Amino acid sequence: MIRTLWFFLPGEGKMKITEKLAIDAFKNDKETHILLDQKVCHTCKERFCIYACPANLYSLNEKEEMVVEFAGCLECGTCMIACIYGSVQWKYPRSEFGVQYRFG
Ligand code: SF4
Repeated sequence: MIRTLWFFLPGEGKMKITEKLAIDAFKNDKETHILLDQKVCHTCKERFCIYACPANLYSLNEKEEMVVEFAGCLECGTCMIACIYGSVQWKYPRSEFGVQYRFG
């Protein structure tokens, strides 16, 4: 029955994913843990990272350059895998920094 305990948390079943993400805590480092190779991004047509990131952190700036806002990173590593051209250099944030999940 342990596997069903989460089901009985008050209001849990009614929460949207955005509401669950909103209660996660982030302790952000000063430096990013995600680096992009702009030369590679400039030649990319598919923009998989924009569609793959569950936190919606990838976007194009006014110069049409790919940018990523590392502060809300969920540390799933999806973008590193989604970029088939190898532009994304990703590592975990330094110890004590990053996301703290509140809903598993
Ligand atoms: Fe987005 Fe996951 Fe990549 Fe973080 S690791 S930027 S949440 S896809």
